[in-house]
Amino acid sequence: MEKFNNITEKDSGYIYNIYSKKPLFVEKAIGTYIYDDQGNKYLDFLSGIAVNALGNRHKVVVEAIENQLSKYLHVSNFFFQSPQILLAEKLIAITGLSKVYFSNSGTESTEAAIKLTRAWANPKKKNTIIALKGAFHGRSYGALSLMEQDSYKKNMYPFLDNCKIVDSNDNIEKIINEDTAVVFFEVIQGEGGIRTIPSAFLQSLLKLKAKYDFLIVIDEIQTGIGRTGKYFAYENFDIKPDIILSAKALGGGLPLGAIICSEKVSSVWQYGQHGTTFGGNPLACAAGLAVLNYIDDKFLSEVTKKGVYLSLKLGELRLKNNLIEEVRGMGLMVGIKLNEIPAANVVESLFHNKVLVCKSSDNVVRILPPLNVSYEEINIFLEKLEKVLNEI
Ligand code: PLP
Repeated sequence: MEKFNNITEKDSGYIYNIYSKKPLFVEKAIGTYIYDDQGNKYLDFLSGIAVNALGNRHKVVVEAIENQLSKYLHVSNFFFQSPQILLAEKLIAITGLSKVYFSNSGTESTEAAIKLTRAWANPKKKNTIIALKGAFHGRSYGALSLMEQDSYKKNMYPFLDNCKIVDSNDNIEKIINEDTAVVFFEVIQGEGGIRTIPSAFLQSLLKLKAKYDFLIVIDEIQTGIGRTGKYFAYENFDIKPDIILSAKALGGGLPLGAIICSEKVSSVWQYGQHGTTFGGNPLACAAGLAVLNYIDDKFLSEVTKKGVYLSLKLGELRLKNNLIEEVRGMGLMVGIKLNEIPAANVVESLFHNKVLVCKSSDNVVRILPPLNVSYEEINIFLEKLEKVLNEI
């Protein structure tokens, strides 16, 4: 006799139960919509958590994958592969940095950067890694060591030594010194509530860097690949990283991560010091390259314009509805901070109205539409949100 009555029961019966899944059985996903097996159509303002920069199954991405698939799928990093080389060339052209290492995910990019910065710092006898409160860098022991929140770490202690978590409003002149090896941060915290880094923090950091010579690692895993109206969000600020962490949208919907390194750290690792079987998978690199080739200055300025429109309209809604405390973010990475009601309730009600978003810390509803979203789709979202907030 069958142990489970239907396929969703099988999901919880067989798959480790660590996600809170919505009752949406995905049938197909096209553009800004996900369709379920009941014929329902959901407006996708989540984009696979900032993965599908060009929406679901964009033509250029599908074509690039099909084209690569007709040549080879996986061969090993022992051989030269043009999708990797071309994507690395593109990332270097965009950032002006020097070398790329490909991984499979955001977490692995963080892990690689921790190892690389330690390899740079060990001979200099610098030991301390600094990271920020509210940060999210991934789920490995290294990444979690850079994060404060106990909910991610509960019952899994101990973590790495020599990691200090500071508040971005702290006086870092009292914290950073000659023992500081590296400072990790996101310029806009995604999981941490769509919070933008204070410019005073960046100014102090640059001053201290000149004095103590440490590395700056900027986590662009969620903010990168056009999300804020620039290729990488740090370009909106007066700062240049030594290492950029990338993933999510980088692979055009396939698993891919990267660290992009400045000249300063471009020859620290020697043969065999780090590596991966799958990192830089040719299909993922071809898909990611198709996305980056599609994004140009005109596209980025459209992202900025749509982001301004969305935030402006949400600001107007805030004036009409006092459940919204603040609208924050940049480009098409927008957070709506709520008061009185939990963000989870709004996410749930939007889901019942066939709109997909997710929540973030600090009671924030996180909005991550595809970067090529239309104004019409933004208006549909705004209407549904207003309806939901009025009903609550
Ligand atoms: N860093 C940031 C800023 C993220 O948003 C995430 C994922 O949400 C990660 C790191 C971890 O990436 P992944 O889930 O691909 O391991």
